[in-house]
Amino acid sequence: MASTLLRDAIVLTVNGSDEVHDRGWVAIVDGRVAGVGALETCPDDGVYDEVMSLPGHIVMPGLVNAHTHSAMILFRGRSEGQSLLTMEGWYNSIREPELSLVASDIGPAVALSCAEMALSGTTTFCDQYFFAEEIAAAVKQAGLRAVIAYGIVQLGDRARGEEELAKATQFLSQQRSADGRVVPWFGPHAPYVDNSEDLLLAEVAVANEFGVGLHLHMACGPEDNEETERRYGTTAAVALEKLGFFKGRIHAAHCIDLSPEDIEVFARAPHASISYNATAGLRSGREGICPAVALREAGVVVALGTDNVAANNGYDMINEMRVAGLVASHREGRAQPIFSRELVRMATMEGARALGLEAEIGSLEPGKAADLVAIDISGAGYSETPDIETLLVYSGSGRDVRHVWVAGEQLVSDRRLLRRPLADIRADYSATYKDFWSRVEAARKG
Ligand SMILES: [Zn+2]
Repeated sequence: MASTLLRDAIVLTVNGSDEVHDRGWVAIVDGRVAGVGALETCPDDGVYDEVMSLPGHIVMPGLVNAHTHSAMILFRGRSEGQSLLTMEGWYNSIREPELSLVASDIGPAVALSCAEMALSGTTTFCDQYFFAEEIAAAVKQAGLRAVIAYGIVQLGDRARGEEELAKATQFLSQQRSADGRVVPWFGPHAPYVDNSEDLLLAEVAVANEFGVGLHLHMACGPEDNEETERRYGTTAAVALEKLGFFKGRIHAAHCIDLSPEDIEVFARAPHASISYNATAGLRSGREGICPAVALREAGVVVALGTDNVAANNGYDMINEMRVAGLVASHREGRAQPIFSRELVRMATMEGARALGLEAEIGSLEPGKAADLVAIDISGAGYSETPDIETLLVYSGSGRDVRHVWVAGEQLVSDRRLLRRPLADIRADYSATYKDFWSRVEAARKG
């Protein structure tokens, strides 16, 4: 049984009472958190295989990025000036080049995304895209924890919908990793916009059978409600509830245009959550902002996500907490409508809850998987404060993450990846990037 003791750090537990130990310890035994406490209660060093003294560091649960599309790192900086939250912007800047993607592009792209996430403190992410098998393979190599939603785009083609459902079902049955780090889900891209009612209901039935969820986009742009307003005179969320869609575990990204009635739909549902993607929302130029405060007040689980890095353009979840807080202040017209402590919770425990992983990750409590990070706050930009969560959220940076563990395995040590060097991952990625975009150009001339 491998064991590690981390001591002398500021420990944010994110447990039920958001306990903080100004000088604390965390013990990791056999991949799990074996104990957490204040330094006075620290066990004897001699019992552990490895002891790390971390003064000047925050030790906290690994961050959970609740919405992204990791392969889309290939589009970073390629859709500037387009709103990716409208059908037109997405279709022109993403969908058209996407048609040139091949399966062998995915591994190197996802590997670089996983590297960026790990190095900035993300230990779990929720991904949705095509080529789900290639994504799962790359995530398993990187060692991160992920929910991978098999992206389904039907676009009115019945036969294609049936074929995709069969493939996605096969994905669910084959891809759950033995160590539990990779969890396969369904990913209907956007209900009504590109998935029919019949297909959505079939997806819920299969997902429930496998005990997994559905990750989708909802209320991102004007198109999302147009079809249901025309057909039923209601928003998509209300129509989906009537359809029976919310009987499944539903994790919805963006949710910018939610009415008070839609918020009630989410609050009533047994397992519904939202990924609030503040940076991507701002960059899209959409006037609306996800009503995160009202959702939380209604008791809905609100997690945080970066969205793809064509829409963000990075994976830094500390930055995402900050932007989420700033945007909420602006929307509500008052200072700090969401306390920093709650933003930390949204980026950890609420993310875990959204993905159905709350028993396993999201907080530092005995028995949970040892997914945690150590952030160096000894450098410039940090100073003494009575409010450590505000220091982290509003002064912190993912670039100060120094050590990262997933299931007790150290993936990042001293800002370096331990499984595979970043330089190798970058070199592979660069070759893939050039090859992919030359294929896109050739298809355009075609
Ligand atoms: Zn998205």
